[in-house]
Amino acid sequence: AIPLVVAISTAISAQKGLLIRNRTAFEEARKITAMVFDKTGTLTEGEFGVNRIKVLVPDMDEATFLSMVAALEQPSQHPIAQGIVREAKKRDLDLPGISDFQSITGKGVSAMVAGQRVLVVSPGFLKEAGIEQPHDAFGSGAETVVFVLIDDQIAGYVALADKIREDSKEAIQRLQESGIKVYMATGDNQKVADAVAKELGLDGVYAEVLPDQKVNVVKDLQKQGQFVAMTGDGVNDAPALAQANVGIAVGSGTDVAAETADIILVNSRPTDITNLVEFGRATYRKMI
Ligand code: ADP
Ligand code: MG
Repeated sequence: AIPLVVAISTAISAQKGLLIRNRTAFEEARKITAMVFDKTGTLTEGEFGVNRIKVLVPDMDEATFLSMVAALEQPSQHPIAQGIVREAKKRDLDLPGISDFQSITGKGVSAMVAGQRVLVVSPGFLKEAGIEQPHDAFGSGAETVVFVLIDDQIAGYVALADKIREDSKEAIQRLQESGIKVYMATGDNQKVADAVAKELGLDGVYAEVLPDQKVNVVKDLQKQGQFVAMTGDGVNDAPALAQANVGIAVGSGTDVAAETADIILVNSRPTDITNLVEFGRATYRKMI
């Protein structure tokens, strides 16, 4: 049987923007000692705007370049992809047809465009492939940069920026006041990760983390004796959500993340997690 106080608390949680999928998660929430947040779409809004475009192919104009990149990104659910497609729509561009679309989870996308293999990928992918990054790719600001390859040759890049969610700072401060260490794990570059970590006063940051490595971040903290909660929104976050003691999916994210999680943040508000932890602790104090 469900203790009445828990049943009531679960109902209250639903009103507070949390959907509890696994009843024990509510009980576990008060035991959390470390919280790992995904960046994009969790601590940030996940709404990328295009800041800069660089075309490195001789004789290709920016509109042609952007329409090709947007065509490739159209089938992708990633917030970066959505930002690029929005920019192309804003400019009224016609997108070329693509075929053989493939998603390279946590690294980018790939497809055939006009008989050529085109990829839009992360800095980490370039490094692995041994392709040199254009020297001006990273400006002075903290930007998310994706690179375009045409038949294995660097063809240019797109620099984008996202905004930190309004209540991320408060959420993190209050978790820290509850004695919880707060970390961020992101597939994005170190510079962006450090800027967000500094702005939010995080206890630690893991950048350029590949999807299969996010699980290891959780495992490492567990090995240190931490009771770990993980919050994420993407397909790539699902294994880490499953590994965590408490898996929390952001409501605006993908279905895969939601299906794996114990808790869903309906309104995508980080402070709802803080409320859950504080509320969970108060509830169980009442039972004892
Ligand atoms: P995060 O942890 O911030 O949610 P992801 O693991 O989803 O990031 O992605 C990591 C990196 O992989 C991105 O910063 C980007 O460089 C690249 N990437 C992933 N999906 C795409 C895509 N659809 N288009 C371009 N780049 C992508
Ligand atoms: Mg993500």
